[in-house]
Formats: sequence, C-alpha cells, structure tokens
Amino acid sequence: MTSQRTRDRLIGRLQDQGIASFEVLDAIRSIPRHLFVDEALAHRAYEDTALPIGHNQTISQPYIVARMTELLIQGQPQGKRLKNVLEIGTGSGYQTAILSRFADQVCSLERIKSLQDKARKRLQALKIRNVLLRYADGSVGWKDKGPFDGILAAAAPAEIPQELLDQLAVGGRLLIPVGESKQVLYRVIRTENGFERQKIEDVKFVPFRSGVR
Ligand code: SAH
Repeated sequence: MTSQRTRDRLIGRLQDQGIASFEVLDAIRSIPRHLFVDEALAHRAYEDTALPIGHNQTISQPYIVARMTELLIQGQPQGKRLKNVLEIGTGSGYQTAILSRFADQVCSLERIKSLQDKARKRLQALKIRNVLLRYADGSVGWKDKGPFDGILAAAAPAEIPQELLDQLAVGGRLLIPVGESKQVLYRVIRTENGFERQKIEDVKFVPFRSGVR
C-alpha cells in the first residue's frame, strides 16, 4: 500500500489535476507521506485526501500541498532555492518536509505542542536539517527570522493577519486560505508599491486559531 507503484499513481493524479512542476512532483514522489500519519492510516497515505492527525487537525491533501508549493516557487529559476520560508501550522510536518527542498531555511510555527513534537521526530528521522520549529501562535509570524521570500499558511483565518504581510520581503509570496464556512486560497505578492492579491481557488482548511495549547 505504500509501494512505489501506489506513490506513482498519486503523482499521475496530481498531474491530471494540473500540477506541472517537475520539482514539486519529484518532492511528492520522494517524501514518504506514510511516515507522517499514524500507522493505522499508513495504507491510505497515497490517496489524494486529507487524513486525521489528532487534535481535530489533518495532514493536508497532497494536491493542495503540491499546488501551494508550486505557486510559492513559480518563476524561480530551476534548482534555485528560496532563501527563507515561513510556514504557519506545522501539523504532521509533511508540508514542512516538502518545503525543505525548496528553501535554504524553513521556519515553521505550530500552536499544538504534541503535534510539533511528533513532527520534529519525523523530520529528524528523515535527516531534514534546514527546518526550525517553534511552538507559538502563528498569527504574529516570526519577526526575528523575517523578512521571508515565502509564507505558507496551512490553516484559514477569517482575514489575512497584517503581521504576515509585514514579514514578506519585496517579491515574496504569501499563500493563505481565507474564510470561514467558505474559504478561498489567495496568493499575495509583495511588490515595490504594495501588495498584489490573486484569488486561486476554493479550498477547505482547518481554522486558523489564536493562542497556543
Ligand atoms: N501542513 C500541515 C497541516 C496541518 S493542519 C500538514 O500537512 O500536516 C493545520 C495546522 O495549523 C494544525 O496543526 C493547527 O494546529 C495549526 N494552526 C492553526 N492555527 C494556528 C496558528 N495560529 N498558529 C500556529 N499553528 C496553527
């Protein structure tokens, strides 16, 4: 169920849905998603669906991980990494692992300690070392580490937090789902003159919550 064939089938599905970046597809092909869910769910890890990871949270759907990553790196020369990326909502650590291939450094915030602890162990086991994890409310970003060339949020706030916009470098991109019962994925690009907001597609994420637990 976690064989190379099963994984290749997922890649085919993602291509059918329009994921075109070879580098993103390769990252999905090579990072073992089954290690980011409980053993009892490992057999479903290469289905294109979100799966529960405890605490009412989910590991994001592979399609959305691929799509957000592709939108984050779009226009980068092939093989050239972003310098510094911020992720809000480490969750299982799966998206973090994918991002670690596209940035020199990934800074990731999570507000649920036990999820962060598990994510840290998984990333260590995979020898992914260019990731900094912090237990904190991501709505204020991570000011000391910014500005960021990319920010990716894995949970949906009702409005885009101003601090995240403030921590974007010029030319940097923020990928964020926004809304409550109805959510839309946005890409916001910081330009010399302000922010350009692009509406991408309807999505379904867990809510962005403030405070830590
Ligand atoms: N990319 C993760 C998604 C996990 S679900 C994965 O694929 O596993 C979203 C995560 O965002 C949850 O773990 C949730 O606890 C976290 N989250 C929600 N609001 C947050 C906030 N304000 N700050 C930090 N993390 C937050």
